[in-house]
Amino acid sequence: MNLREAAREGTARLKKAGVPEAELDAWYLLEWAAGVSRSHYLAYPEEKLTKEQESRFLEALARRAQRVPLQHITGEQEFMGLSFLVNEEVLIPRQDTEILVEEALKYLKPDMRFLDLCTGSGCILLSLLHYCPGAKGVGSDLSLGALKTAEKNRERLGLCAELKESDLFEKIEGRFDMIVSNPPYIPSEAIAGLMEEVRMHEPLMALDGHEDGLYFYRRIAKTSPRYLKEGGWLCLEIGFDQGESVPALLRDEGFDEIEVIRDLAGLDRVVKARMNRCQAAVPGGLLFAAR
Ligand code: GLN
Repeated sequence: MNLREAAREGTARLKKAGVPEAELDAWYLLEWAAGVSRSHYLAYPEEKLTKEQESRFLEALARRAQRVPLQHITGEQEFMGLSFLVNEEVLIPRQDTEILVEEALKYLKPDMRFLDLCTGSGCILLSLLHYCPGAKGVGSDLSLGALKTAEKNRERLGLCAELKESDLFEKIEGRFDMIVSNPPYIPSEAIAGLMEEVRMHEPLMALDGHEDGLYFYRRIAKTSPRYLKEGGWLCLEIGFDQGESVPALLRDEGFDEIEVIRDLAGLDRVVKARMNRCQAAVPGGLLFAAR
C-alpha cells in the first residue's frame, strides 16, 4: 500500500463506520502511523508504507472505527501549542479551554502563586506555567490516575508544579493570587446524550457536574474566597448555558468585576471574577487580613 492508497482506504473504512470527519481522522492516523508530514505526503504520494507502518495504521483505523478517540490512539493532544499525554484517566484537552488559559494569562504575573482545581492532564496548570515563567502553580485532583498523567506531562514539559491528591480545596493550604478551574460541568442527565467517544472513553468523573451541572461551581464559589488573597482572581470554564447561573453564584459570595468571556463560536465559555475584600471566614473562625 502506498501513502495515497492508505489515505483513501483509511477514509473509506472510517466513513463506513460512521466516524464524523473520516477523511481528517484517516489523515491524522496515517501521519502518526507512517511518521510523514503533509508536505512529504504531497511530494511522494506513491511512497510505500513499510509492513510495520501498514499494520500500525490498520490497527489504528480499526480502533478509531470503534469510536476510540483519536487522541487515545496517538496518546497525545496539542493544547496551547504544547503536546500533552492523554489516556482514559483524563479529559482530553479541548481547544475551548485555551480561552480560559488566555484569560488567566492576562492577570497572571511571574511572582504570583496560583491554584488549578481539577487539573486532569495538567493542561491548564502547565500551559500557564510555560507561558508565565516565574509563576508558581499548584494543581489538585481527586483522581490519582489523573495526577499520574499530570506528573508525566510536567516532566515532559520540564516544568515545576506541585500536584496534590485532593477533593477540591481539601488538602490545599495558604492563599493564592489566582484560582483557575475547568471543573466537571455537565448535568448528569445530559451525559447519556454525549458522543460515543466521550461517553465511553473519557472519565465520567471529569464530566459529571451532578444534578444541574453546578455542583462544583457552588463549592468553588463558596470556598475560594478563603483561599484567595485580597484582589485575587478566579477564572472558571463554564458550559455554554451557564453564563448566568455561575456569575450569580459568584455574586452571592461577594465576588466583583465578574465578566463572561465567549469562545470563538460566540458561546459563553469562561467566567472571570475578583475577590476585592478580605474574607475572614477561615476554619476556626479566626480573623486575619488576607495579605
Ligand atoms: N482541567 C482539565 C482540563 O481542562 C480537566 C477538566 C476536568 O476534569 N473536568 O482538561
